[in-house]
Amino acid sequence: MSKAALHTLGCRLNQAETEIIAKRLQNSGYHIVEWGQAADLTVINTCTVTEQADAKCRQAIRLSLRRNPATKVAVIGCYAQMDVEALRKIDGVSLIIGNEHKLQITDFLDNLDVGQNPVVVHTSKISRDEFIIDAIGLYDTQTRANLKIQDGCNFVCSFCIIAAARGPARSRNFEDVLDEARQLIALGFREIVLTGVNIGTYANNGRDFAALLKSLAILPGLHRLRISSIEPTTVTHELIDIIAGFPTICRHLHIPLQSGNDGILEKMRRKHTIREFRETVEYASLNIPGIGIGTDVLVGFPGESEEAFADTRKFLADLPIAFYHVFCYSDRKGTASYKLKPKIDPQEKKRRNHIMTDQGRRQKRRFQLGWLEQKVDVLFEQEEQGWWNGFTDNYLRVRIRAAGNLKNQIHTVKITGITDEELSGELL
Ligand code: SF4
Repeated sequence: MSKAALHTLGCRLNQAETEIIAKRLQNSGYHIVEWGQAADLTVINTCTVTEQADAKCRQAIRLSLRRNPATKVAVIGCYAQMDVEALRKIDGVSLIIGNEHKLQITDFLDNLDVGQNPVVVHTSKISRDEFIIDAIGLYDTQTRANLKIQDGCNFVCSFCIIAAARGPARSRNFEDVLDEARQLIALGFREIVLTGVNIGTYANNGRDFAALLKSLAILPGLHRLRISSIEPTTVTHELIDIIAGFPTICRHLHIPLQSGNDGILEKMRRKHTIREFRETVEYASLNIPGIGIGTDVLVGFPGESEEAFADTRKFLADLPIAFYHVFCYSDRKGTASYKLKPKIDPQEKKRRNHIMTDQGRRQKRRFQLGWLEQKVDVLFEQEEQGWWNGFTDNYLRVRIRAAGNLKNQIHTVKITGITDEELSGELL
């Protein structure tokens, strides 16, 4: 039996897609082996969010060819969409597929040469149509499954290449999403994570993200439904009320802010102002008790003065945000911000990143402290050296000492302590 190894770079949506591709390969007779093991076919699902991401993809391709010169390497996804020519230059690549056709990879595997003139499947325009995915993902854990509901983005923020790499916003057929969710529940997954590029813009035959959420939340057997990153302007009061009203929907929102200064937000071509963002976060924290809110912060955007950076710090410090993802701005050819000036010195970007990450740590600690001596429900995922760990619905990582197998079980835990990244507690 032919073997296939898969590797994902980038976001949760890429992971979801790799899982679907793995299942399709398995259905076509491939045995899926771990990345790093010898395989007849190696699939690398790439990311192009920054130039460093491109470099990481090239490294992964070269590493794979060095380890296993006889493997056929298929490079698919965002980097393949944006730079076919760079990939053609890497000796040994057999197949390059852009974003439009990557899920159909099994249609292109016949008659591939090992590293001779790669077959290229690429369309520069990506369709706007609704889509159906007639497979469910192959997951190596039986705990949490990513469910792709949407792709592409029409917002076109000035620093972001994703709208170009993934094309216009389009949504998965409503019934198709419900079908996959039912199958995932039947397979024993306790948690389903809704993924896409801009999931709050979901729209299919007159049904929006709120309608989808309500239909999914009542599926029999579903324990947890988690919303992945969602754009601030799409987090409506209606959506917050729905989250508050269904116990299956996790009390967790990741809402990217990027900057706490309206001038910078405008240059970023973000769709929200800081006032609107504050209002959304305050409404969510008031109406969903215990909610864990996360955000993305982009430091060192062109023209971000020390004052503008201080605005972001102050703005976030005042808000009930528990989790920060901090990124340094980096220039990306093809984006509008590439041409914006003045650029911020790399050392200064690092300094701002450091300061912001530190502030994020403190805010996370503040959120964690509020859970000491409280009872929480934890979905346990894995065991390491006698410690079982997992997540609460509001995205607190918790570990406990326990004998026996807790994998994929939800148990109530009393929180008794805090370490850097996680809470510790006792099984009740
Ligand atoms: S909302 Fe902005 S940052 Fe997010 S994917 Fe769309 S263009 Fe990129």
